[in-house]
Amino acid sequence: MSEPTSTPEIASTRALIIVDVQNDFCEGGTLAVAGGAAVATAIAELVAARHQRYAVLVATQDWHIDPGSHFSEAPDFVDSWPVHCVAETPGAALHPNLAPATAHLHAAFRKGRFSAAYSGFEGRLALEGAPVEDESGPLLGDWLREHGITSLDVAGIATDHCVRATALDARTQGFETTVIAPLTAAVHPQNNDAVFEQLRAAGVTVLTLG
Ligand SMILES: [Zn+2]
Repeated sequence: MSEPTSTPEIASTRALIIVDVQNDFCEGGTLAVAGGAAVATAIAELVAARHQRYAVLVATQDWHIDPGSHFSEAPDFVDSWPVHCVAETPGAALHPNLAPATAHLHAAFRKGRFSAAYSGFEGRLALEGAPVEDESGPLLGDWLREHGITSLDVAGIATDHCVRATALDARTQGFETTVIAPLTAAVHPQNNDAVFEQLRAAGVTVLTLG
């Protein structure tokens, strides 16, 4: 008897989007979000246990060169922020707690080179050997469609900014979208109920504990 080549658990049309799990957004970073490192660990555990559920697994990265007023010396933490995730610096690298998962990642999509970019759907595929400012790679949404993806699970940082924007854009682009809330960390966790309500109103499934 031969092994089955697929199981019902394997979904050829589902992708995992890991949003901005980068050093600067975790403890010790320049724009640290409480719980960021723990989210990195939890996502790595999900990937180890469940990567076969996904046809593709991708990461997004905030990747700034000169993003204008997105950076501020007097940030309001709503529209302006301390300097973070400068392209090709350690702060922009994926957090080491995510390292066990990186072998399963198919691609990284980078956003925000010259402006603020909260949604992963503004990200373009990072091409091997391309210069830091290169923006010739395909956009995330186009790449996902090229790979036959129709459903997304979204996790990462931050719940109330880039995870939210990515999930809303995913719905706008017609993807069936689930945010795995326990695998996200928020800048302002007190806003989570409102964020989840907005996501649900947009047709996003929000998985929460309990
Ligand atoms: Zn940014």
